[in-house]
Parts: sequence; C-alpha cells; structure tokens
Amino acid sequence: MSAIDELYDKKVKCPVCNVEFTTKRVKMSKLRAEKRYSDLFIHYKGENPVKYSVYVCPVCGYAALSEKYNNVKGGSLTILRDKITSKWKEREYGGYRSVEEAITCYKLALYCGEILLYKKLYLGGICLRLAWLYRLKNDNENEQRFLRLTYDFYKNAYSNESMINTNMDEITLTYLIGETKRRIGDNKEAISWFSQVVSHPMSGNNPKIKKLAREQWALIRESR
Ligand SMILES: [Zn+2]
Repeated sequence: MSAIDELYDKKVKCPVCNVEFTTKRVKMSKLRAEKRYSDLFIHYKGENPVKYSVYVCPVCGYAALSEKYNNVKGGSLTILRDKITSKWKEREYGGYRSVEEAITCYKLALYCGEILLYKKLYLGGICLRLAWLYRLKNDNENEQRFLRLTYDFYKNAYSNESMINTNMDEITLTYLIGETKRRIGDNKEAISWFSQVVSHPMSGNNPKIKKLAREQWALIRESR
C-alpha cells in the first residue's frame, strides 16, 4: 500500500485570506500502531497522522494545528498579514508530506503561534511533535533541542495557565513535564514530577498516565 492510499483530501477555508485549499489527512481506518513511546508518541506502520496535523495556507502562509486553525480573528488577522503574508512566497504543503516537510509545517505553526502570543500549552504541544518528527529522522540533537523547548513551555503552562477547554489535563501535563525532563537527562527533577502524578488525588481518573509515571520512575531507579 502506498502512502497516497492512506491519505484523503480535506477542504479548508483559510480564515486569514479566505482562500479555499485542500490538505491531506490520514484515514483512521488505515492506522496500525507499531510502537508506543513513553512520551505518548505513537509510531504507525504507514503514514503518521502527526505529519498532517498542521494546516498551512498556500497563499498567505498562515499555519496552525488543525483544531485551532479557525480560531483566529480580529487584530490577529492584521498581525498575520503584516508579519507572515508580507514575507510569504506561495508554497504548497497540501500533498503527501515527507518528514522534513512536516517539520517545516510545524515550524511555521510555531512561528505563527509565537507572534500571536498563543498559550504556552499550545506552543509546547507543537515543540513535542517536532521532537517526535526529529526522532523519526534519528536526529537526536534536534530531538533534544525540541524536548528542552517542550519542557520550558509546559512548565510555564503548568504554573501560569488554565487547562479548561484544552485537550490537556493536569495529570497528563505533569507526567509529560517529568518525561521530557527524563529524556533530556535530569532524572532527579523527573522523579519529583512522576511522584506528583502518582500521589495526585485525581490520578485514579487517568490510570494509563499513572501507570506510565510508575514505570518511568522505576526505570530511573533501576538505572542507578
Ligand atoms: Zn490564507
């Protein structure tokens, strides 16, 4: 089966320049998980949906994660036209994406999110996915670089942002902060985040994450 058989076209209307364009998505029925990583990355046998989660308007350059794509209005439109569109050369990311092209799409989304002062939780999610994409390329140096950025954004989000109306919960965020810290080599701090997950009064509601926190904590203990 070729990559193209696993993809379908989705029509998107750009909220910044009103152009309609198509972008690929992965057919859910074709997904076969091959490996699950402890930072929640899932590697699939074929195309990975992570590669297609950013929409990029070919005409004006506006890029964002799919679930946030339409949530841009008012003064943000002016900022995007000013800082993105004015420098944008028409480019197309609506077909099959190589890992490199997917990385470019995420970096565009990160840049748009930063200039619009989006929540650190959102920016951290983009950086975590960038780390995963570099992992697919076996590029350890860049994977580590984006894990460090994920940690910084997520830690900031943990202290300063509400998670209401996001697809993140406090237990998962606490766990991911610990796990990114473990992956960048700070076991001591990682343990303190894992212990927070395990002892959190609500962690029973998220048994999968609680189990992961126990496992990663044990992994550190065994490696000593
Ligand atoms: Zn546009």
